[in-house]
Amino acid sequence: MNFQEKDRSLIWHPFTQEKTSEPPLVITKGEGAYLFDETGKRYLDAISSWWVNIHGHSHPKIAEAIFTQAQELEHVLFAGFTHPPAITLCEKLKSYLPSPLSKFFFSDNGSTAVEVALKMAYQYFWNQGEKQRNVFLSFEGAYHGDTFGAMAVGKTSGYYDPFQKLFFHVQTLPYPATWVDDSEVEKKEALALEQAERVLKEHHSSLAAFILEPLVQGASGMRMVRPEFIRTLFDMVRAYKIPIIFDEVMTGFYRTGTFFAMDQVERTPDILCLSKGLTGGFLPLSLTITSEEIYNAFLGEKFNKAFAHGHSYTANPLGCAAANASLELLTEHKTIENIQQIAKIHKEHMQNLPGQQKRCLGTIAAWNTPLSQDVKKKALCQGFLLRPLGNTLYILPPYCITSEDLHQLYTVLLT
Ligand SMILES: *Cc1c(COP(=O)(O)O)cnc(C)c1O
Repeated sequence: MNFQEKDRSLIWHPFTQEKTSEPPLVITKGEGAYLFDETGKRYLDAISSWWVNIHGHSHPKIAEAIFTQAQELEHVLFAGFTHPPAITLCEKLKSYLPSPLSKFFFSDNGSTAVEVALKMAYQYFWNQGEKQRNVFLSFEGAYHGDTFGAMAVGKTSGYYDPFQKLFFHVQTLPYPATWVDDSEVEKKEALALEQAERVLKEHHSSLAAFILEPLVQGASGMRMVRPEFIRTLFDMVRAYKIPIIFDEVMTGFYRTGTFFAMDQVERTPDILCLSKGLTGGFLPLSLTITSEEIYNAFLGEKFNKAFAHGHSYTANPLGCAAANASLELLTEHKTIENIQQIAKIHKEHMQNLPGQQKRCLGTIAAWNTPLSQDVKKKALCQGFLLRPLGNTLYILPPYCITSEDLHQLYTVLLT
């Protein structure tokens, strides 16, 4: 049996209809923006391997940081113990964050970062005797991960039909997705804000938190909104003193052009979720970051007020070492220049793309076409890895992609 046959006999892949899907590509090497299959054929990873890779594959500096750390300390439990790579990471991140976000809780993927955020918000009220706050607020089309709490707030993402009966209560707000030359944007936003005000008036006393992906909804098709819309809505929700959770699992680390998407929203959430690009795409790690105020509500003489949540690999030192190396690379002038260059090239080509609802933000470009699957196949033959979300085609490359390669990809997409 070759690798593909062995794989089919053994492995059940994520988000895959095993009956109808093509056999998976066997990848044996990664370097920079490229992946190589077992025959040596090269693919440009135009989607950063599900949005995690930011500096390219097998980056020597991150690989070395992991190797060095593995020889010192591979792992230690994180209750009652700590270690320098975790502390260094939080110190570094703090310098990018507005001052209210100052308490760092580790877990190991985007979904768990979201679970932690939801549980924190809920118990924050519970610890203060407010036990009627049983409802969460999220956007229509939101995606926050595949564990139960994350699925509940993402119940309208279209992925979870079998599970609807098992979810806790969630109120959904309309999401006024927009694109280049969208003449309806103001009307859609006004309607969404009206609806939000109605929901807030009716439900505010039972709301535990509002969770959202600021500026871009990833998994539901790179759907974008204007920062001014999020800002207005943010202020409305804040006025009711409902905690706000920004899920920046996908948007963090310059993906949208600024270090965080919230930098463009110009608002500071009560809780922030980070993962995906955190380790540069090397190891699973995530953070849920919150304010002193929320943290303080968990303090008490007895354990019952504490946050009873933790994972075996919480704050894994290898993951933290990778994250520290990745953050170093993000401070390099060259990285910032590349990010700006990607954004510029996206803008240049937008107009000519064959499709509708063209949109771009920072290093993300997206558009809709019923031919998305055909385009994906054609691009793959020519060595470009894309993975449409329904009718949406998008480009979300590692920041190390060269201008030549990005132009080349657009050439393939334009013909
Ligand atoms: C991918 C994603 C998640 C889930 O992260 P996993 O690491 O896949 O569990 C949560 N929120 C957003 C916005 C994401 O894009």
